[in-house]
Amino acid sequence: MALAGLNHKCGWRGTTNTLLNFGEGKYPVRGEAGAVGYLVGQPGKGLRCMFHMMNEARIGVGLAATMLGMAGYQASLDYAKNRPQGRPMGPAGKDAAQPQIRIIEHADVKRMLLAQKAYCEGALALELYCARLVDEQHTGDAGAADDARLLLEVLTPIAKSWPSEWCLEANSLAIQIHGGYGYTRDFPVEQYWRDNRLNMIHEGTHGIQGMDLLGRKVLMEEGRGLQLLAARMQATIEQAGLIAELAPHASAVKEALRHVGAATRSAWATGNPTDALANAVPYLQAFGHTVLAWIWLDVALASRAKAAGQGEAAHTGRLAAARYFFHYELPKIGAWLKVVESRDLTCADCPEEAF
Ligand SMILES: Cc1cc2nc3c(=O)[nH]c(=O)nc-3n(C[C@H](O)[C@H](O)[C@H](O)COP(=O)(O)OP(=O)(O)OC[C@H]3O[C@@H](n4cnc5c(N)ncnc54)[C@H](O)[C@@H]3O)c2cc1C
Repeated sequence: MALAGLNHKCGWRGTTNTLLNFGEGKYPVRGEAGAVGYLVGQPGKGLRCMFHMMNEARIGVGLAATMLGMAGYQASLDYAKNRPQGRPMGPAGKDAAQPQIRIIEHADVKRMLLAQKAYCEGALALELYCARLVDEQHTGDAGAADDARLLLEVLTPIAKSWPSEWCLEANSLAIQIHGGYGYTRDFPVEQYWRDNRLNMIHEGTHGIQGMDLLGRKVLMEEGRGLQLLAARMQATIEQAGLIAELAPHASAVKEALRHVGAATRSAWATGNPTDALANAVPYLQAFGHTVLAWIWLDVALASRAKAAGQGEAAHTGRLAAARYFFHYELPKIGAWLKVVESRDLTCADCPEEAF
């Protein structure tokens, strides 16, 4: 084995990453070109051993993506509170005689802040829920431990992929809030984006997570994991449905859950993996947004119980982020699921020479 050199990475520049060449003969082993390999565990069971480590590692990747998103959110919030630019917009348009306002006062900047808050705080709540399930596998009675295991099987591709995609988008919005400065190294947000870009790639790419979810996890044990998740979601829907302020959100989660279930059946209607898995990533995205809508409903319920009419700013912020998720994000699942349920082969059938 020979060290071919350093990889010059887009992000994570504080860690070394090297390219190793095996078998080129530069450092012969027992007089021959090659390397010595050691068998770990039983022959043919390597992937199973690897997944023992990988499942918790994937939650770790999701949490890292979340915290990079959070760092960008905090940096851009601070910037938005301090940067003066533009005049207030009144019914008669802008008044040049008015002093400048800070950019946090513009509706579009608030949109970008609320999007980040919805992505990152939602992702954090999901990761903490998964971490609790990891604990329950060890602390619960036999039934609870088994439920935790199965729920984790279904949620792991979401816990890994959802923050990797949407907290990266949060980092992109944090750059956008900084304007031209966001594109320079004078501010930290470009580094957060570069560091976060890794998370959709390592520990199983987005494409692999999509196939794991639609090709394996929702089917395993005759769909029992999906049913278990649906039952947990249903319990939250029923609780939130009793509260006028949250009832429309509860109905939206219920409809999203129904749609995901129907799309899962349609995707597999021909029983042909080529048809079903051609749109595994749009399925992953729609499933992820549905899970996060449930998480936000749960956070809104918990926040409401804690704040109990005190009108505190943190509670107002949580409810606004939940509302943002239901109004601006959840409707996206319609487009994602349409190609899944019609088994759209636009991409799969495109001949190579047409690109
Ligand atoms: C900074 C960094 C650190 C890393 N650290 C480690 C480490 O410590 N240990 C380690 O073992 N690995 C490490 N990796 C490797 C990493 O896990 C892989 O790069 C990653 O799993 C993707 O594999 P690949 O690079 O071979 O891409 P490929 O498998 O070639 O994938 C390329 C593209 O093709 C798609 N694709 C591939 N196969 C399919 C398929 N069957 N169906 C649909 N789409 C497909 C992928 O989704 C992806 O978009 C690291 C990588 C990086 C960048």
